[in-house]
Amino acid sequence: MRLILLGPPGAGKGTQSTRITQKFGIPQLSTGDMLRAAVKAGTPIGLQAKAVMESGQLVSDSIVVGIVADRIAEPDAQKGFILDGFPRTVAQAEALDVMLAERNLSLDSIIELKVDENALLERIRKRAEETLAAGGTVRADDNPDAFVIRLKAYQEQTAPLSAYYAKKGQLRTVDGMASMDKVTDDILAVLHQTA
Ligand code: AMP
Repeated sequence: MRLILLGPPGAGKGTQSTRITQKFGIPQLSTGDMLRAAVKAGTPIGLQAKAVMESGQLVSDSIVVGIVADRIAEPDAQKGFILDGFPRTVAQAEALDVMLAERNLSLDSIIELKVDENALLERIRKRAEETLAAGGTVRADDNPDAFVIRLKAYQEQTAPLSAYYAKKGQLRTVDGMASMDKVTDDILAVLHQTA
């Protein structure tokens, strides 16, 4: 199964991707996680991406397309994957189409988590508080200033993907404001119909 989860920052893509991957035993390919790992390891990509990520802007298409192309070629991705946080621009979606076509693969489902964008800032604040309370480290871009920029990047560059996939007849939507369990159930129901 090859699946894309779309939605603004804070919509719950990461949480839901983790749940779905556990259920289906396929890897969660989060470009945000891959980039954060590169930053931590101080690789050339990490060095290039660090400041851009911290500000809340998008890393260049060529960098993320490159890391996704490498990642989907790995053995564990052969039985499928969930893309979390990629594609984020129409150019990335087009590059993904080419990458998959070259391998004779296609996407089974593209699911958009629909959320009330006004409620997201509060969600992000809560996420930071809970992480701190649990003794974790809050992401450098989980602060109100960077979040506003992330949301703007989403609205300007990522939101057009809904139309891109809707035109291909592949887009399904799920209410991301429901409880975490209900969102998971709704995603599973869509997968049942489409995958
Ligand atoms: P995320 O964990 O998905 O919220 O991503 C965190 C940050 O990593 C984003 O704000 C971007 O700076 C960068 N990033 C992650 N995925 C992408 C992508 N597909 N294209 C461009 N930048 C990305």
